Amino acid sequence: MTDTAFDVIVIGAGPAGYPCAIRAAQNKLKVACIDEWKNLDGKYAFGGTCLNAGCIPSKALLESSELYHRANVEFAVHGIQATGLAFDVATMQKRKAGIVKASAQGIAGLFKAAGVTALQGHGKLLAGNRVEHTAADGKTQVLTARHVVLASGSAPMELQSMPFDGKAIVDSWGALEFDAVPKRLCVIGAGVIGLELGSVWRRLGAEVVVLEALEQFLFMADQQVAKEALKHFKKLGLDIRLGAKVGGASQDRDGVTLRYTDASGDKTVTVDKVVVAIGRRPYTGDLLGEGTGVELDERGFIKVDHECRTGAGNVWAVGDVVRGPMLAHKGKEEGVMVGDLIAGLVTEVNYDAVPSVVYTAPEIAWVGQTEEQVKASGRAYKVGSFPFMASGRARAMEAPAGFAKIIAAVDDDEILGVHIIGPMAGELIAEAVLAMEYSASTEDLQRTMHAHPTLSEALHEAALLADKRAIDFPNK
Ligand SMILES: Cc1cc2nc3c(=O)[nH]c(=O)nc-3n(C[C@H](O)[C@H](O)[C@H](O)COP(=O)(O)OP(=O)(O)OC[C@H]3O[C@@H](n4cnc5c(N)ncnc54)[C@H](O)[C@@H]3O)c2cc1C
Repeated sequence: MTDTAFDVIVIGAGPAGYPCAIRAAQNKLKVACIDEWKNLDGKYAFGGTCLNAGCIPSKALLESSELYHRANVEFAVHGIQATGLAFDVATMQKRKAGIVKASAQGIAGLFKAAGVTALQGHGKLLAGNRVEHTAADGKTQVLTARHVVLASGSAPMELQSMPFDGKAIVDSWGALEFDAVPKRLCVIGAGVIGLELGSVWRRLGAEVVVLEALEQFLFMADQQVAKEALKHFKKLGLDIRLGAKVGGASQDRDGVTLRYTDASGDKTVTVDKVVVAIGRRPYTGDLLGEGTGVELDERGFIKVDHECRTGAGNVWAVGDVVRGPMLAHKGKEEGVMVGDLIAGLVTEVNYDAVPSVVYTAPEIAWVGQTEEQVKASGRAYKVGSFPFMASGRARAMEAPAGFAKIIAAVDDDEILGVHIIGPMAGELIAEAVLAMEYSASTEDLQRTMHAHPTLSEALHEAALLADKRAIDFPNK
């Protein structure tokens, strides 16, 4: 083998691509991973959207803004006087940038430790499992591989009537880079990303209007959870307008005026900044050369089977660029699976146990089917729902909002879905994911000892409530 011949070449080093490269290298394969991401400083960085412009920077700003918000509205009840409270956006942004930089360097270190050849620049699949690599200086070389994994990710969708201008009309990345709190902000799209970004800037004082085209709030969530969440977002001051279809925008000295239509007619709203968070599309820009045999579906996703094979010999695709939820952990598990399958190991991804988390306050998390989905399936089911108000730990934390809800089958007691809105829901859901991975019953959870006082007891009591055997809450 020469330096241009590899067992595996992965194109894309986001949360789907880099774990794939590392796992393949752990399996003693010779691996290269190519990535072209550049940050705003013009420098290459590994980690993709998640690390540079998604999961990590958004959580850094959510944490800073939540601390400020809690100091402002919650500390008094603990007997803590936080007078003269102030914040500095520049410091928040610097902290966030530091976290992103360290994490990207961490991936370069992981590649080195695993023996992965990390290549920066553009990768393009050519026919015959060859990959063209174009480096920063424009020089190209053709590499060969027994297997190629496409992990090129996704890009934000734009509204045709309102193209991004990087200043007043921005995508989610732009909204993570504001250097000051906008006085009036409009978020288009009340999905996970829109709600998280709206929460950040609302907590820091922006007037935030959220325009959502659908009539139903958080349609993908259990509707009992969605209803509870809407109540809390309204309390935070997010002005969420449902059924609001945006038609276009115009800009003048007063700001951006958005035109939209809802059930009661044509409306306008004028703001200083607009964040368009209407979803993401698969990204395959200049990824596929002539005759590769890789097919795209009608929405632009790379077509794959349940094991992420594209149909072109030894070409695989993982992460946001293929079907399924656009989530970092879903991409990671696909990447790891492919890294193992290429090495001849037996493995699979359990798509029935993909957790979803909305990192707002209260947090929202779920896994499995919603009550609406179980009902529609016709299977007889039972529900246990335990409010955090009845949790000693949640009360001690001054975080009694929300509940943990378990839906299970009546016939064999199997857990079908778990839905949590409340403190640390994103952490609590891990227990439910593990339970579902092992096809656990509510009885399994009921018989599992949970430390006291912890938030996890809410899940324990919810499992008991499903059989009307709760101890810390009246069984109805
Ligand atoms: C604001 C925001 C918040 C989010 N928060 C969360 C969260 O909390 N939890 C969660 O699970 N998900 C979250 N997501 C979604 C998450 O970021 C994506 O699901 C995840 O990044 C997808 O991983 P990926 O590896 O498939 O693609 P990406 O992360 O997009 O990585 C793809 C990489 O491939 C590179 N690339 C593309 N084409 C080529 C090419 N031809 N040659 C070389 N390199 C190429 C790209 O530059 C990029 O670096 C968030 C997204 C956003 C925007």
